[in-house]
Amino acid sequence: MAVYHDAKCRICRRAGEKLFLKGERCYSAKCAVSRRAYPPGQKGKTGFMRLTEYGAELKEKQKIRRAYGILERQFVKYLDEAITQKGNTAEILLGILENRLDNVIYRAGIASSRAEARMLVSHNHFMVNGKSVNIPSYRVKQGNIISIKESHKKKNYFKNVSESFKKFQAPSWLSADKEKFAIKVTASPVLKEIGSVSDIRSVIEYYSR
Ligand code: SF4
Repeated sequence: MAVYHDAKCRICRRAGEKLFLKGERCYSAKCAVSRRAYPPGQKGKTGFMRLTEYGAELKEKQKIRRAYGILERQFVKYLDEAITQKGNTAEILLGILENRLDNVIYRAGIASSRAEARMLVSHNHFMVNGKSVNIPSYRVKQGNIISIKESHKKKNYFKNVSESFKKFQAPSWLSADKEKFAIKVTASPVLKEIGSVSDIRSVIEYYSR
């Protein structure tokens, strides 16, 4: 599992925008990017850094990798996979990232951040098509049904989240069964709804150097 020792809000401040790494706090006035919209560190407030083309591409790459909480090695594997497939590499890469089980749990409103979703998956709360899956990077497919193990629904976390799950508007490619507390993947991720945090073309340029 990807672990960053840097404080999450510092990552956002360095990226210069919200990456939504901390759940509800990200939508509140406590968000560090809202309160201190400059990079962390002594020179952050006054220092002016003109980024080279390479630096700008590197920044975009770091943003998307950190937003999805993925280590470099895994991200490169995803990119290699996207490049070898026919079609628009940027769109294929985003599709791969969106189809990760931890991301789907986050997108469905069961977790308030991808980090929380990753922890929930690792703690073995979920099944895909009736089979236990505890791998956050597990790739879901169209038609898969993701459910919470029956005995785990009684846990406080899921009792608390069940009401907000019922009200949550999941993206169009996920269909939520509000009563069974389950999600069905009905289509490929809809790119317009993803609202990528990065300029994916710059990310691809970065790796093609
Ligand atoms: Fe921190 Fe979330 Fe704001 Fe990022 S978006 S700075 S993680 S509160």
